[in-house]
Amino acid sequence: MSSPTDKDQTMKTQGEDSSAFGTPELRTHFIRNRIREDVAAGRNDGRVITRFPPEPNGFLHIGHAKSICINFGMADEFGGSTNLRFDDTNPEREEALYYERIMEDVRWLGFDWQALHHASDYFEQLYGFACELIERGLAYVDSLSAEQMREYRGTLTEPGRASPDRDRAIAESLELFKRMRAGEFSDGSYTLRAKIDMSAANINLRDPILYRIRKIPHHRTGDRWCVYPTYDFAHGISDAIEGITHSLCTLEFEDHRPLYDWLLDHISIDCHPQQIEFARGNIDFTVLSKRRLKRLVTEGHVDGWDDPRMPTLAGLRRRGYPPLAIRRFWESVGVSKSESIIPMIVLENAVRDELNERAPRSMAVLRPLKIVLSNFPADETRWLEVPLHPQREEMGTRRIAITREIYIEQDDFMLDPPGKFFRLKPGGEVRLRNAFIIRCDEVVTAADGSVDHLVCSFDPDTMSGLPGASRKVKGTIHWVSASHGKRATVRLYDRLFSVANPTADRDTDFIEHLNPQSLETIDDAVIEPDLAAQPSGHQVQFERTGYFAVDPDSTPEQPLLNRTVSLRDSWAKIAQS
Ligand code: ATP
Ligand code: MG
Repeated sequence: MSSPTDKDQTMKTQGEDSSAFGTPELRTHFIRNRIREDVAAGRNDGRVITRFPPEPNGFLHIGHAKSICINFGMADEFGGSTNLRFDDTNPEREEALYYERIMEDVRWLGFDWQALHHASDYFEQLYGFACELIERGLAYVDSLSAEQMREYRGTLTEPGRASPDRDRAIAESLELFKRMRAGEFSDGSYTLRAKIDMSAANINLRDPILYRIRKIPHHRTGDRWCVYPTYDFAHGISDAIEGITHSLCTLEFEDHRPLYDWLLDHISIDCHPQQIEFARGNIDFTVLSKRRLKRLVTEGHVDGWDDPRMPTLAGLRRRGYPPLAIRRFWESVGVSKSESIIPMIVLENAVRDELNERAPRSMAVLRPLKIVLSNFPADETRWLEVPLHPQREEMGTRRIAITREIYIEQDDFMLDPPGKFFRLKPGGEVRLRNAFIIRCDEVVTAADGSVDHLVCSFDPDTMSGLPGASRKVKGTIHWVSASHGKRATVRLYDRLFSVANPTADRDTDFIEHLNPQSLETIDDAVIEPDLAAQPSGHQVQFERTGYFAVDPDSTPEQPLLNRTVSLRDSWAKIAQS
């Protein structure tokens, strides 16, 4: 729909009025300060070793990128290193495919790990530490069912009760634990629990479960194991085995820290990493949870994990988000202990800033309206040499063809516009970007009364480079030669959800808040022909329209481009009105 009074819909390409492409200053935050103090005090011999520990049960999303940036970023900054560790202790939820994709996504963000580990590599060691706890009288095999255990656990206001098995003899627990491992018992019949304090105010310390029986093969260890450690047991010990100095994680683990510390204090291992928690990154108009994202995929609401509407790193990559924009975004957001929801527009602005700086310019007409230039020779092609980037001469030039027939956007013409419409109208003039001024002499209508095409004349003296080029008209619009332009499919993406916080209301399934207009596919856009041959991932600014990226499914015969982000934020206007 044409908006009739928007003088800024005419040619004012993003970037032409913005000055420096600054790099944001590194802001200090409590984790940076903590680590700086540790290094200054010579703790851990001044070393900084962090880890990023994804569970391979889905693709990474933009929230994980925050954790990746913090873990790898802190280690880089202090000359340390970071391990990638797959936290694969839950065989029922994990799949082999996810390992590869997670590694690809971490690399894409620009980080490389010092060592690649799997919690499952430590199953034997972890089992040994569990036996050590039993031998020290600090763990016991319990036969309470899950339901009984819930009953015995107590509440925030009431202490828990001891399981009848709490005082089981050490030798008996050891024997039972061995038999659990040997597969003699069915799932759920026994667990191994730490013996800490059933009346602890922190419920995580009320004899937490360390091991469960799960007769499910693991994609790395096959059927060698049928007892699997819990996250709490495996995580801290894995950190210590790897010599991690700072275990940086999200706030939901704050209440688990006493257990993390208790376990490391009671087994014979020298290393005791410090767990430091920070607030999760949340962004509005999307969901950041692998479980929910998986539902979108399996129920077919999106076209796979890498659908460009998804907040997964694979989706954002396909959409054309530069990894550097994601890193700068999280750096600018900072690190704190208080939860907040960051507006999507902040991320989008980071993407615009990055692409404005380096995306070559091009012209594309999404909804074509044909113009016949009556005074342009029918068999002539005039080649124009135009800059690839308005501020970056070093990027060079491209050649574009102008011919008698061209396309402009349907929106850039109005038959009967109100006052402040500066684009094309009957009898009116407009400048064609990079070319000359044209005047609309005749509107040719189709049988149904709709506009079929326009007959215009151009003013040859106003060609860029000639003295008349300085003649001013109010509007400048983009265009593509009808004979040289190439047909392309263009996908315009919008917010995946139509409400800012799709999971706020517990009584409504978040699926109901999906934005039915999140994808619009335009099949007959016209692009500059050179673009058709560009490889997947190539990024471009279609002047006046937005930033686009070539999709992996694009071919030179059938180009396919995804809109990364519009030039301006259309939601801000909606919010204000
Ligand atoms: P999800 O809820 O999406 O499944 P998760 O926390 O279960 O996330 P993991 O694979 O266990 O996913 O996460 C690996 C690391 O990434 C953890 O240290 C976790 O704290 C961190 N992380 C996950 N989501 C976010 C987020 N939104 N912001 C910052 N860090 C996150
Ligand atoms: Mg998790």
